[in-house]
Amino acid sequence: MYDVVIIGAGMSGLTAAIYCARAGVSFIVLEQDGWGGGQITSAHHVENYPAVSAVTGAYLGEALRHQALDLGCKIEQGIVSRVVDFGEYKKIILHSGMEIKTHVVIAATGAQPKKLGVPGEERLLGRGVSYCAVCDGAFFAKKGAFVIGGGDTAVEDAIYLADICQNVTVVHRRQGFRAAKSRVAHLKTLKNVNIRTGETLSSITGEDMVDGVELSCGGKMRHFDAQCVFIAVGSEPQTGYLADLPLELDAGYIVAGESCKTAVPGIYAAGDIRKKELRQAVTAAADGANAAFSALQFLQEQRNA
Ligand code: NAP
Repeated sequence: MYDVVIIGAGMSGLTAAIYCARAGVSFIVLEQDGWGGGQITSAHHVENYPAVSAVTGAYLGEALRHQALDLGCKIEQGIVSRVVDFGEYKKIILHSGMEIKTHVVIAATGAQPKKLGVPGEERLLGRGVSYCAVCDGAFFAKKGAFVIGGGDTAVEDAIYLADICQNVTVVHRRQGFRAAKSRVAHLKTLKNVNIRTGETLSSITGEDMVDGVELSCGGKMRHFDAQCVFIAVGSEPQTGYLADLPLELDAGYIVAGESCKTAVPGIYAAGDIRKKELRQAVTAAADGANAAFSALQFLQEQRNA
């Protein structure tokens, strides 16, 4: 029986692990790829994480992973299918059938890219359709790219792709961008970037590979040639494995305050799966610290009871 099992080895999970390691409790981190680092590792450029001026997300993720490992944290490969609450303890059931008992669970599984559900999106995934510019951009050097979305991810992706691709067209459904003003201003300075606002992606065309997109604007459809489409329209929290628990959810996100305490005692939600205003690496790290602190208090109260 562990004191704490942390599910997810991203920014929030590994920060929780650092606090658990330093507190001397027994714990493990479960991560589906067994490696860790999380979503931040696919950010091209991070310049708003305190104390590090400008680094790649991969650098930040790897530095965090090493810090946690150096403190004695164990990251184990495991895909969690269910968590069952027995009050005093929780049982974690893995896809492999293995079961792990723990007093506390910190759920830190983050979020996955949202799909648009347009024709061609699923069929051409990996053949010109991608949700990760930093992973797949290099495959489309000197080609024509479309980026869908108006948030920080879309704008950052477009800036990154502008260096690699011949031209980049950003398609955003509204006039105003959700992304930081400074990032949008930078995007607008790039000569090979074309911005189309008030338009939506209707379909992605191509037989074996993407060869174009259909855009809809005020009921009119237009076809454009394209070799790749990067979809960056937000992400969805990964909470399926918690479905048996009476957690409070809001638009799929777990309702928990700054303490990361959920509606179920001994279960904490940290990082992008928690309902909050600002999903950033720094707020995920703060959640990891708060979740671990709450978990340690809970363990103490259990021992004193
Ligand atoms: P986001 O901020 O939720 O933006 C999603 C974008 O996709 C919005 O512009 C939204 O349009 C658009 N969208 C959503 N559903 C759509 C649909 N069905 N059809 C067309 N467009 C759709 O997501 P994000 O950009 O992934 O960012 C998530 C969080 O991470 C944010 O807090 C962001 O600041 C942060 N982030 C930070 C960095 C960094 O600091 N380096 C990098 C990336 C992300 P509307 O605007 O019309 O809703």
